[in-house]
Amino acid sequence: MQVPVIQQIMKANDQVANENAKTFEQAGVRVVNVMASPGAGKTSLILEAIARLPAGMRPGVIEGDIASTIDADRIAAHDVPVVQINTGGNCHLDAPMIRTALDHLDLDALDVLFIENVGNLICPSNYRLGSHVNLLIASVPEGHDKPFKYPGMYANADLVALNKYDLAEVFAFDFEAFEHGVRMVNPTVPIFRVSARTGEGVDAWLSALLQQLALQPA
Ligand code: MG
Ligand code: ZN
Repeated sequence: MQVPVIQQIMKANDQVANENAKTFEQAGVRVVNVMASPGAGKTSLILEAIARLPAGMRPGVIEGDIASTIDADRIAAHDVPVVQINTGGNCHLDAPMIRTALDHLDLDALDVLFIENVGNLICPSNYRLGSHVNLLIASVPEGHDKPFKYPGMYANADLVALNKYDLAEVFAFDFEAFEHGVRMVNPTVPIFRVSARTGEGVDAWLSALLQQLALQPA
């Protein structure tokens, strides 16, 4: 009788995700769920995005990690409101965790909220949080075969940022193979080649993200 139990958990998560979405709507905050494997550069790319936001646009961050406040401390150093969720070993964020984190954020003072999910390519996309955009960050050192190995995460992405593209030659990264893998499960998702380190491609990617968040005219 395992299946009914799992379905119930999902239903409960969806219910809270809907409440979160309503809360975001009321506060006028647009929200992106940032997912990736560990080390893909989620925090770095979030910081790059924040540095390039249009003048007056107010960001906030929720940091999900199994342990530690290392990433949250990096965000806080830039004077951006940030709340840390330590999942205590859990490998993904869920909607109730976000609900709790929202008690510690002044949503009325924010326009855009980045939720950095736990670094994991298996289950985060199964748990709706109430966000508007699912951003998947891939990275060159992981190899171009990842879309074939983790199709669920790629199938649920609204936007793909392929980070560390400045290293493509070093790693003999085959972009066409990567793109083919993505297209097999998600034929239309936009893919941007970026480097948080050099800044290459970041403006074009951010512009697409803001459009998907309805924060910028198309
Ligand atoms: Mg991080
Ligand atoms: Zn998980």
